[in-house]
Amino acid sequence: MSASDSHILPVYSPPEQIFVRGEGCWIWDDKGDKYLDCIAGIAVNALGHAPPVLQKALTEQAAKLWHTSNMFKVKGQEELAAKYVRDSFADVVFFTNSGTEAIEGALKTARKYHTANGNPERIDIIGFQGSFHGRSYAAINASGNPSYLDGFGPRLPGFVQVPFGDHDALKAAVGPTTAALIIEPVQGEGGVRAVPESCLRELRALADKEGFLIIFDEVQSGAGRTGKMWAHQWSGITPDIMAVAKGVGGGFPMGAFLATKDAAKGMVRGVHGTTFGGNPLAMAVGNACYDELAKPEMMHHVNTVANHLGQALEGLKDRHPNLVVDVRGKGLLRGLKLKIDPKPIQGALRDRKVLVGVAGDNVLRLAPPLVISEAEIRQAVDAIDAVLGAHAAQAGA
Ligand SMILES: *Cc1c(COP(=O)(O)O)cnc(C)c1O
Repeated sequence: MSASDSHILPVYSPPEQIFVRGEGCWIWDDKGDKYLDCIAGIAVNALGHAPPVLQKALTEQAAKLWHTSNMFKVKGQEELAAKYVRDSFADVVFFTNSGTEAIEGALKTARKYHTANGNPERIDIIGFQGSFHGRSYAAINASGNPSYLDGFGPRLPGFVQVPFGDHDALKAAVGPTTAALIIEPVQGEGGVRAVPESCLRELRALADKEGFLIIFDEVQSGAGRTGKMWAHQWSGITPDIMAVAKGVGGGFPMGAFLATKDAAKGMVRGVHGTTFGGNPLAMAVGNACYDELAKPEMMHHVNTVANHLGQALEGLKDRHPNLVVDVRGKGLLRGLKLKIDPKPIQGALRDRKVLVGVAGDNVLRLAPPLVISEAEIRQAVDAIDAVLGAHAAQAGA
């Protein structure tokens, strides 16, 4: 089908392949060609494609009960919230259908906290340039990226951005109307940049001193992707509110925001809600997925293969100094910052049956299923090596 025959709103530019089946880290197109998937639906298929444990959870639930809405208690929500709380800073959880909705709820919770404390003037949300928090009005205003904001009407008041890593600009932006700071512990879309752990600790100290809240956007960095359940756990500090999605559902669309009891004090009966969020299907898969992610051997595996991947990417940087500027990210959320546009490299890799992503700042992005093996990583890195080599040869570099 050519693009002009399509009835899909043309906001994406997908390649021609149509994928019809997946298993583990592999995905097949409708011609029967097999690809190694190193992007996993943008860090979503944490346990790989169609993992039997999630198939079972989904189909068993599908035979019982799909949806009741939040007019009624959903047993799976209580179970999954208890697990999230057991393993995190949080006391309460609200389930959503997507990352954007989790961000939306997190931002509302932060402002409502200050209102509940008698400080309704505290509305300002400080974000970072190059961040990505989703596509709702609040989310695009929080990230401040002009290409997502322009033409959609006036910017919302109460959102400020400071340059990534600029501590002085951040301190200057904080004031008596600051409500919260929102940050991805590892920036995903913006270029796969990990925030140094020391910076996260400084942010926590600043927030405590100035009386604003910290929201971690772990939609991409969470769910075990960096080798701990939540990426911020490497730093030893905790946020007041956290948004999660992507990997937590292993491919079923779901997310959540988590908060301490204190940070959530304004979110009382009637002020927020959702029809679909936390429905029995999502909760069946979410519980089964979390149980797998929470096994110590799973994080052990992620750390082992991530170490291997990190070293292999450093090797690529050494072998292709004219093309690779930097190795970025953490765990199994990695980027190669290139001197060139990464899209042709991504396309050439697809021709070699390896799927990768790209991110801002000329970054080739890898976010494979967490269950990827060392041999599969080797295969992917060898393909990148060959493609970079061919590009250099062609460019006469
Ligand atoms: C993907 C993403 C979002 C938005 O999630 P959706 O499920 O696409 O709405 C928000 N924040 C980060 C860091 C993301 O990577």
